[in-house]
Amino acid sequence: MRAVPLWRVVVDRDRCMGSGVCVALAASLFVLDDERSRPRAEHVAPDETVLDAADCCPARAVTVTENGRVIGPRD
Ligand code: SF4
Repeated sequence: MRAVPLWRVVVDRDRCMGSGVCVALAASLFVLDDERSRPRAEHVAPDETVLDAADCCPARAVTVTENGRVIGPRD
């Protein structure tokens, strides 16, 4: 059986403005820490919610990659 590749989630904390949108959308994936978001885990199982969070970030601070290829935010 082939393993499902994990997605890598990165928050650019210099860009993040602490809006909390990602946390509101996906509290299991993001947490506010010192008024900036960070992913609870760097690698996550594929989950549409993390792409939604990347899409909705007003600062475009959330990047999701799969095997090094950027898959979120979706343009
Ligand atoms: S949605 Fe974007 S700007 Fe808002 S807390 Fe999350 S990463 Fe930061």
